[in-house]
Amino acid sequence: MSNLEVAPREAVCAGDATAGPVHELMDGRDVVLGGTRGMAVTRTLPNRDRRMVGAWCFLDAYGPATHDMRVPPHPHTGLQTVSWLLAGELLHRDSLGSQQLIRPGQLNLMTAGRAIAHSEESTVDTTLHGVQLWVALPDSDRQGEPAFAHHPDLPVVTDNGLTATVLIGQFADVVSPARAYTPIVGAEVTVDGGAGARLPLEPDFEYAVLCLAGEAEVDGVPLAPGPLLYLGTGRTAMAMSGSARLLLLGGEPFEERIVMWWNFVGRSHDEIVADREDWMAGRRFGPVVGYEGDPLPAPELPTTTLKARGRQR
Ligand code: MN
Repeated sequence: MSNLEVAPREAVCAGDATAGPVHELMDGRDVVLGGTRGMAVTRTLPNRDRRMVGAWCFLDAYGPATHDMRVPPHPHTGLQTVSWLLAGELLHRDSLGSQQLIRPGQLNLMTAGRAIAHSEESTVDTTLHGVQLWVALPDSDRQGEPAFAHHPDLPVVTDNGLTATVLIGQFADVVSPARAYTPIVGAEVTVDGGAGARLPLEPDFEYAVLCLAGEAEVDGVPLAPGPLLYLGTGRTAMAMSGSARLLLLGGEPFEERIVMWWNFVGRSHDEIVADREDWMAGRRFGPVVGYEGDPLPAPELPTTTLKARGRQR
């Protein structure tokens, strides 16, 4: 997924998790991605009220819709992309030479490190439903080698009236094979009718929940597809009920200050400028072989000097 905004703003994000349990419903913004029939997505991270949840720094949800998706080659730095489908099929290609179909229940995890480029396109004319997330890499790993991994078999936890597929990180003593660089969790949780589901949580993590389908009550808050429910820290468990598929995101509050612009995560404005210049000059990122069409040009950088600001407004 690429940020296709015409004039993306640069944002400085830093760890400022809310201590203790809270309930904040954060509405997303509607963004249109490329494609002949323009796939519409709802972006709930970064949000004007809160920019990160743990190291999770970007969340687009799309569908269910029959629109196609066609995101031309574009660059990334300093982050991992996490692709997860509920319906449909997407083809990923990247500058490492990877070419991978992803289907529902499978995880595509791309680690940009210092530089990678990729494209994503729907391959069949059918309902497309899924999420695309970014995870900020810590300073110790963000200049590392780029990598791509496809995980077709993820661990499933069935307990306490719920079923959870662990995409990345650890949930209820079950660890995903997907490589994470900070303590985080991403899990798809299914609750089915019962009122007694209890979600085990780490008190040091901050959490947020997005409803992917159906309707649920999460810690007493009614939740349907749309907004992201931010939950803060300080919980060891949480009640869930209803009939829904939910995306649970959590992690230790990310204390490093990051600078996000377009598809780059860096630590300074100058790094972002260099990322953009290298992409536009055809340096560092490498070509995405096999994609029919031109790569995405970077938008213009904002002319105003970046003003540092916190993750929470
Ligand atoms: Mn992307």
